[in-house]
Amino acid sequence: MNKQFNLDSLVRRNVAELAPYSSARDEFKSDGTEMIFLDANENPFRSDLNRYPDPQQQELKAVLASQKGISSKEILLGNGSDEVLDLIFRAFCEPATDNIISLPPTYGMYSVLAKINNIEERQVLLDEDFQPKVNDILDAVDKNTKLIFLCSPNNPSGNSFREKEVKAILEGFTGLVIIDEAYIDFSEKQSWLSDMRVYSNLIVTQTLSKAYGLAGIRLGICYASEAIISLLNKIKPPYNINVLTQNTALEALKNNHNLRKDVKVILEQRRLLAKELQHIGYVEKIFASDANFLLVKVDHATKRYKELLEKGIVARDRSSQPLCEGCLRFTIGTESENKKLIEALKEMDS
Ligand SMILES: *Cc1c(COP(=O)(O)O)cnc(C)c1O
Repeated sequence: MNKQFNLDSLVRRNVAELAPYSSARDEFKSDGTEMIFLDANENPFRSDLNRYPDPQQQELKAVLASQKGISSKEILLGNGSDEVLDLIFRAFCEPATDNIISLPPTYGMYSVLAKINNIEERQVLLDEDFQPKVNDILDAVDKNTKLIFLCSPNNPSGNSFREKEVKAILEGFTGLVIIDEAYIDFSEKQSWLSDMRVYSNLIVTQTLSKAYGLAGIRLGICYASEAIISLLNKIKPPYNINVLTQNTALEALKNNHNLRKDVKVILEQRRLLAKELQHIGYVEKIFASDANFLLVKVDHATKRYKELLEKGIVARDRSSQPLCEGCLRFTIGTESENKKLIEALKEMDS
């Protein structure tokens, strides 16, 4: 499919040559036999959390792998997607030399991580419908372009990218394409995970922070080929997913009927909120959303944002983002929270 894709030429030299740190728990893995653990300088008392977590999170990955129909070796877990994204930068982008492409308006972390890692960020704006401009993107690529970030459904616009454009980027770019699917559980569109074995340059990221309602535990998921995952594994902090997070995530994944229930309610609330917003005089446009938020164009975004604050409601003012002039972003709350939002917006409409 992607003839010129060559992982060995993308990875940073120092990472390719790196012998990863080998932790106590890497060197001896329990097979379930009762053992006396005197290898990791742990305190032997208070036995719920006294042991280091499984550095490879095997139980958690096994559940994810079976739910997604892939292998555990195609999964890397991070302390939030933010850690996953940072590992991708550090594995592939040579500071002060390489560059990445992002498609504003989009998630702010790609920029922040590029700056932290001293990587040039080339921004190619989305089109008027918030879809990627494939030709402009491929024109921006040079020999040092390592990564292209696609966020779909996109934050803050809420829409998903069309299949045709995404495929054209996957096929036309010989570096890595990261599709950030933080909001995929709210979307009726299929995850790009099912195409992971078709495109060897595809990385899909997901998170338990949004639909799963577990932003507090910090669990981000990276799906990619075994070859990509093993590179990222070399540079991840050994015990990056703590015991409490692994246990909570396991429970949540096993009981994912809660997820479907929550998503159904949130989508119904999104529909109601969109309907109510149409009756507000200063609302100029409500953008279609595949996520748990609505981007809404109003007459004076910053003024409306401040009026809402005075009424005790915190929205997100996105009006300084390109293509988001006059726009506020509303996360879908509970039924009563959304009612209060509507009441407040109506009071301001006079
Ligand atoms: C919220 C969000 C995330 C989540 O990041 P975590 O670190 O997993 O909480 C990732 N990507 C996008 C686009 C988001 O909006």
